[in-house]
Amino acid sequence: MQTVKLHDKTFELFIDENAIKSAIADLSLRINTAYEGKNPLFLGILNGSFLFAADLFRQINGSAEISFLKMASYQGTSTTGKINELIGLNEDISNRHIIVIEDIVDTGITLEKIIADLQKRQPASIAIATLLFKPAAYQKNIKVNYVGIEVANDFLVGYGLDYDGLGRNLKEIYRLKA
Ligand code: 5GP
Ligand code: MG
Repeated sequence: MQTVKLHDKTFELFIDENAIKSAIADLSLRINTAYEGKNPLFLGILNGSFLFAADLFRQINGSAEISFLKMASYQGTSTTGKINELIGLNEDISNRHIIVIEDIVDTGITLEKIIADLQKRQPASIAIATLLFKPAAYQKNIKVNYVGIEVANDFLVGYGLDYDGLGRNLKEIYRLKA
């Protein structure tokens, strides 16, 4: 499928299944080497990362755990403004080696909030693994340790990423057609 229509917009094929597979193979190789014997705890950020998290975790060797979190965004009081809260973290992460799994890092604003929240819980270490990274959009200083594929500032869908709810089940990644 070269193009796909979701709601009112047309998207064109950008990253095929093989390229996704090969990026994940590279990432898992690096992570397996770095975390051997450390029983890392992977934390997938919902919803977008669910397919990537599953495919990456499948390639991890030895003892490893996985759990999923969500950034919930809601309107606070007029003085507090919009509140972002990390929900779903039930395990004790103190002294654990954490690997945050993201679908895509764009400005890094979301990532910064996630890391700040996790840091308070005193893990042994935190690393970030993202399938997609937009270096030109990134505004933060936090190091993104494991990047699958660097992309330009285009709007992408597929393989977990949505456009207003649709497109997550596409096996490839598509970009908004100009
Ligand atoms: P950031 O806070 O880094 O700017 O953005 C992170 C979130 O914005 C991602 O987790 C994702 O939900 C959304 N996002 C950023 N870029 C894209 C994109 O190209 N496509 C889609 N579908 N979502 C994106
Ligand atoms: Mg996301």
